[in-house]
Amino acid sequence: MNEVVFVGTSDAFGAGGRRQSAYLVRGSGSSILLDCGATTATGLEALGIDRNEIDAIVVSHFHGDHFGGIPALLLAAVYGDARKRPLQVAGPSGVEERVRNAAWALGHQIEGRALGFELAFHELHAGTSLRLGGFELEAFRTFHAPESCPHGLLCRADGRSIAFSGDTGWFDELPRHVRGSDLFICECTQERQGYPYHLSLEELEPRRRELDCTRTLLTHLGPEMRARSDYRGFEAADDGLVVKL
Ligand SMILES: [Zn+2]
Ligand SMILES: [Zn+2]
Repeated sequence: MNEVVFVGTSDAFGAGGRRQSAYLVRGSGSSILLDCGATTATGLEALGIDRNEIDAIVVSHFHGDHFGGIPALLLAAVYGDARKRPLQVAGPSGVEERVRNAAWALGHQIEGRALGFELAFHELHAGTSLRLGGFELEAFRTFHAPESCPHGLLCRADGRSIAFSGDTGWFDELPRHVRGSDLFICECTQERQGYPYHLSLEELEPRRRELDCTRTLLTHLGPEMRARSDYRGFEAADDGLVVKL
C-alpha cells in the first residue's frame, strides 16, 4: 500500500465547494476506491486519475454521497473507457441490488447493457474479511442512520493498514477498530455535537488519546469545520491531498 489520494472530503452537501466521500488507495499493482459519491467522477477527472486504474470500489454505506457515483462510473467505463479489466464492487448486505436500483433510477440501468468487462459484486459483512485486488478488507458496524447499513472499513496490504470511519457518531468500540492503523480517515462533519449520527470536533478532542494510530485525518467536513483554520491539534484533509504510507 503506497498512498491514499483524497478525492473528496466534503459532507453530503459539498461544503466549501469540495467533493463528496471518495478515497483512492494505491497498492503495488492495484488500486481500490473507498466510497464513490455523486461527485467522484468529477474528482477523478480533476485529479488526473485514470478510471481504469480502479480495480474495486468499496462502499461504506448506502447514502448517495458515498455510493451515488457508481452508476456514472459504470457508464463511463463502457462508453468513455471501453473498459476490459474486471471491476469489483463491494459493500454492505444488498450492495448489488442497491447499485442496480440506483443505476436504474438515474437512467443508467445495467441490465441489458453490454458492459464489455466483468462486473462482480461482493457483500462485506461486519467482522468478516474479503480479499480484493491485493487488499484485505474488513468492515465494522458504525453508529449512523440504520437504514443506510452503516459500516467503517479496514484496509490492509503490504504490512500497512488504513482505517476509515465511514459516517458515524461516536461509539465506544470505535477506538478498538482503528487501533494500530497507519492512517485513520475519520469523519468529522460537525464542529459541535449536534446530529448524533455524525462526529464533531468537540467530541473528538477529549478522545484524541483513545485514537491510537499513527496519523488521523479528519474528513467529511461540514461548513463550520471547513471554515476553521485550526483543528485543535488534529489534521484535516482537503480534496486532492495525497498521503504517502
Ligand atoms: Zn456522508
Ligand atoms: Zn451517511
